[in-house]
Amino acid sequence: MKSAFLPRLVNGPFGDPGLHIGLRWQGTALQFDLGRLDRFPAAEILKLTHVFVSHTHIDHFIGFDRLIRLFLARDATVSLFGPPGIVRNVAGKLAGYTWNLVEGYPFILEVHEVHPSRISTVRLRAMTGFGIEQVDERAFTGVLHDEPSFSVHAVHLDHRIPCLAFAAVEKTHLNIRKDELERLGVPAGPWLNVLKNAIRTQQPDGTVISAKWFLSGTEQQATFRLQELRERLVVEAPGEKIVYAVDNLFSSANVARLVELARDATIFYCESLFLDEDREQALKRYHLTARQAGTLARWAGVKRLEVFHFSPRYDGMADRFYDEAAAAFAGTIPPDEPV
Ligand SMILES: [Zn+2]
Ligand SMILES: [Zn+2]
Repeated sequence: MKSAFLPRLVNGPFGDPGLHIGLRWQGTALQFDLGRLDRFPAAEILKLTHVFVSHTHIDHFIGFDRLIRLFLARDATVSLFGPPGIVRNVAGKLAGYTWNLVEGYPFILEVHEVHPSRISTVRLRAMTGFGIEQVDERAFTGVLHDEPSFSVHAVHLDHRIPCLAFAAVEKTHLNIRKDELERLGVPAGPWLNVLKNAIRTQQPDGTVISAKWFLSGTEQQATFRLQELRERLVVEAPGEKIVYAVDNLFSSANVARLVELARDATIFYCESLFLDEDREQALKRYHLTARQAGTLARWAGVKRLEVFHFSPRYDGMADRFYDEAAAAFAGTIPPDEPV
């Protein structure tokens, strides 16, 4: 079964945090955190439509400049979500450069500042030199972004500053039966995306879906009713869920929020700046240990745990993080106790 989400960390486990999720059927991508992006291919960055920033400590936000540089002359809109203060942070970064000779640049940055119960949105257009225009304000009930095929959710965690953790949730996983497709005599192509979108947006049964393809240089066409294709070709399964959680204290309040967010996730990406032997340091710095990440994964019942964001002080000891996290996840060492 092919996943709609194509996740990959943009740096190694000791590098700056950042998770890129390609959307297989859309050709676009989502980005979680903007740590250093200089080794990540420009072509992948240019697929981004939505960027989610957990907090603006430098290792999570220094890649913002590369993002802006790549998009500057593009006819694109990027939506960026971040914690309280994000508008000031973005405006401050942009104020560090001189913006003249940009009148012809159509690039638009939309910044959504996520407060505990509301989201405030501003627009910054390259052609105006990134002046701030207030757009709107809406209630926040956990959902940041919602479209037919997936949604993105967030919770606020305590990192001695607010830090957002995110979940990207695929709504239903739609698989095409190859055997039935062959029997239908129509090759796979973009029309299958049209079909999937029609199902996701709950179009009426009678909606006409047409497929076009070439056979020996001649264009062929066939039309079907949505209901017929849905019954013959499509197998629906529960969607995937990818959770991204970084810098936070292993407190009861954080644990409760994170376990709920990560419940049954397909992949849980979780920071582990420290090992259990340095638990006191982790508590003092409002960070997690590998054992705590494993504990969270176990309590949330996730399918797969990926720990990352290891402190450089443990350089060369990555295996100790993987082993400790895996042991807590599997229950072969006892769970840690939240403070
Ligand atoms: Zn960090
Ligand atoms: Zn931090």
